[in-house]
Amino acid sequence: MVDGFFMVKSAYRCIKDWQRRDMAGSSSVGSSLVWKYLRKLNILPRQAHFIWRILCKAIPTWQRLWNWGVACPLWCPRCDGVVECLEHLMWECSWSRSFWFASPLGIMWGSDNQEDFCTWLTGMILEALVDVVEWVCGSCYGFGRARNLACFEGKLVDAGIAAIVVVHEVQEYQKVRASLQTRYTSLPTSASTIWQFPPRGKAELNVDDDQGSGGWTRGVVIQNDEGSVLAAVERTWGGLCGG
Ligand SMILES: [Zn+2]
Repeated sequence: MVDGFFMVKSAYRCIKDWQRRDMAGSSSVGSSLVWKYLRKLNILPRQAHFIWRILCKAIPTWQRLWNWGVACPLWCPRCDGVVECLEHLMWECSWSRSFWFASPLGIMWGSDNQEDFCTWLTGMILEALVDVVEWVCGSCYGFGRARNLACFEGKLVDAGIAAIVVVHEVQEYQKVRASLQTRYTSLPTSASTIWQFPPRGKAELNVDDDQGSGGWTRGVVIQNDEGSVLAAVERTWGGLCGG
């Protein structure tokens, strides 16, 4: 876990400049493209859905509910007197800053962000390394869960603890996904090797030979970056045959 923690942090630092790229707002970015990327990630469907709601600015912040005429508080539950809008919720609140810093990404927001959160998030999804995006999505979801506990159940979870829960949740899910991937792929996998999805937009061809009682069998499988099998063929030669 420790190695993974620092690896992700390092990766994040490498792409930090991308934050400042002018994405010109999420409205100009093909929403179908963003959703397509989200679906390819190794994350829980509910996490992908939550990210999508953020990008659609459909998170029911107190301000949003207030504007809809709902009788509710307007202030952030942690910052009395500050309106809970999406920007405050996601990265302006002191709790939010602590959470993001404690997250596997180790993000320190500046006080002079040049873009809104949705633009930053869209840029990350489209441009960042897949591992980093998955951590961002897991963090956003864990963040939203802690926020709901504060708003609707009055439970103020420590930001550091909320970040640790995210780490555990993301790693557990990825472990299960990797296990299933290994179990159901038609290719034999050694105990020390877990098959990884090819990079975005790429396909991977794997060839494997196996010797059984009926002779040699050669299997060829092509899988895309979502792990789906694009093509597979198997052929057996009877009798003795060189590999
Ligand atoms: Zn606040």
